[in-house]
Amino acid sequence: MKEETGISWAHFTHNFWLGCDKIASECAHCYIGRDLRKQGRQPWGRLYLTQTYNNPFDFESLAKQNKQYVRVFTCSESDFFHAQADKWRAGAWRVIKNCPHAVWLILTKRPERILRNLPADWPYANVWLGVSTGCKKTLNKMDVLRDVPIHPEAVRFVSAEPLLEDISQEIDLTGFGWLVVGGESGGGVEYLWNPAGDWRAEFSTHGRRTMHLEWAETLRDKVKGAGLSFLFKQITNARPSQSGMSTLIRPPCRTSGRGGHSRRFQRATC
Ligand code: SF4
Repeated sequence: MKEETGISWAHFTHNFWLGCDKIASECAHCYIGRDLRKQGRQPWGRLYLTQTYNNPFDFESLAKQNKQYVRVFTCSESDFFHAQADKWRAGAWRVIKNCPHAVWLILTKRPERILRNLPADWPYANVWLGVSTGCKKTLNKMDVLRDVPIHPEAVRFVSAEPLLEDISQEIDLTGFGWLVVGGESGGGVEYLWNPAGDWRAEFSTHGRRTMHLEWAETLRDKVKGAGLSFLFKQITNARPSQSGMSTLIRPPCRTSGRGGHSRRFQRATC
């Protein structure tokens, strides 16, 4: 199996392509800038097709053999719905469809591009769609994702990471099943984000923005009060943490409930 991940809520990552563009406040200190530069690549403005396009068949065959499912964080070093990937996405959907023992977690900041970039035979049971929002002005991305149909066995999720302000009063969780929250990681100076500031001005600066723990706690209370799943990933920290509360609170289990998969296979991943 390839590309085992340190991300606490997935077993693997898989990148069909690399590279992105910053489009929102939450993107300011995006880690792919560091990662791609280490590879000698320019992270912004162009995308690179990876050489590992077919690797998912490795973890698909092993998961099938073990009668398990694995969660795969999809495009951790890009955005699956980035416009420059339109020419490659049909191939990615074919891989995803043919790896039914992998549950593909596709997290995007471009939910407005999802509907026109779905395969003709959508929805897929093994694809969870997620949207990323960590402040009030991007909460409308959840409204956009709410309008995208998903399979009854799949889950819509939201990643409030980095959480830049308290969004617990404004967030509408209708139609979502799981929320991940966390503070920003990264070197440099820690500072409090200014919602009234020019969000593009931060794109070329370093540092990490403070998440007050109470913001995560009020979100947790709202999510748990709605009977949904919650994952606290980390506090604001210089280094990314993989511990969080992931061993205590897990994402909703795809195999729970009515799905035929639960009758055929052990519940191994949730
Ligand atoms: S959309 Fe995601 S991958 Fe792209 S720059 Fe923003 S945070 Fe980074």
